[in-house]
Amino acid sequence: MSFICVECAKDQNLKHFIENRGITGDCTICQNNAVKVVDYENDEFFQLIKSILRFNYSEWEYNTHLGGDGYDKLFYGDKNIFFNESRAVSEEIYEDLVLFITDGDVYEGYDKGISIFSGYNKYEMRNMPLVSIKSSYSKDITKLSSRLKTENYFDLEGELKAIIDNYSTSAMTVYSKGSYFYRARIGVSDKKRSFSGGFETELHYEPYKNGEIGAPPPQFASSGRINRLGVSFMYCATDKYTAISEVRPHPGDFVSTGKFSLRKDVRVFDLSKSLLLEYFHCDESLDKYVPFQNLVDLINKVVPPSERQHYSITQLIADCIRQLGFDGIAFRSTVGEGINLVFFQSSILEFMNDENEVVCIKQVKYDYDPVPIIQKDYLYQ
Ligand SMILES: [Zn+2]
Repeated sequence: MSFICVECAKDQNLKHFIENRGITGDCTICQNNAVKVVDYENDEFFQLIKSILRFNYSEWEYNTHLGGDGYDKLFYGDKNIFFNESRAVSEEIYEDLVLFITDGDVYEGYDKGISIFSGYNKYEMRNMPLVSIKSSYSKDITKLSSRLKTENYFDLEGELKAIIDNYSTSAMTVYSKGSYFYRARIGVSDKKRSFSGGFETELHYEPYKNGEIGAPPPQFASSGRINRLGVSFMYCATDKYTAISEVRPHPGDFVSTGKFSLRKDVRVFDLSKSLLLEYFHCDESLDKYVPFQNLVDLINKVVPPSERQHYSITQLIADCIRQLGFDGIAFRSTVGEGINLVFFQSSILEFMNDENEVVCIKQVKYDYDPVPIIQKDYLYQ
């Protein structure tokens, strides 16, 4: 048998797999002793690697017949998302690991394993190339999303609820009583300049506290990513930085922060975690993962203020999750490292007196990606 440790794995799902399933042993790759390892010459490990590949890459990125660089190339160099290649004690040892994968079956039965090439049909015509799971669209969700433009949201609840309910068990995270989260609100409740010995000293600030930094009353609740106009939900984050970033302050703004703790155990529909480890065994289950990934993408989509009408689908997702009996939703922040939590009832949270602070925003950073530019000859292609 040959073993690989958590550190030699790079992909987060792979790391979790080794942590959860591993035994204590010696890593064949880096030769560290007495660490958590799994046998990599085993079918489950093989299917997991292929599912990570299928999640991240579309076939044209690695199939040389479609212009890709080659299947094996994905495991070497900067592009390598799977392993920490540099930890291997020798090139030969690392090559053995890659060969175990690339020498394995690339076509498998739909309900038996993961195929990484689409192959040919019975007329020897090439099938449509495989599209990565992360860029695949579920027809059902796409249709619901466009029907929202012409139909009332409550007429679509039943169908969306049925899709979301498929993940009620796998996507559930329980936060226990006493867990705490942060909220932020731009502004302060008071500021005063103190006098000492006849001289003016620096300004002192009083943060918003309690209800002032809690969820607004429904009559003042504007429409948000998760809540409809006039519906008040409690938006929180797992850390202060994320909470502050989520209120989009400008440089020079003063922002109050507050900490809230849970009064009871809550069940959250968690769109912040990968469920790949529950769906990696065969192509059939990978296909079942696509709608969940679409929900994640919709909730995480960065929406500029000018396009806030796109919130209608995320508000509908939230309605359905609430009707399925969850206390809230978790999703990754696009502006902070932490996780956003939205609770449907603010009364399940209690304001804490500690860490009730005021910060001044020094700078706001921007992050951007270039997008393709329309070429002159575009219309003739
Ligand atoms: Zn290792």
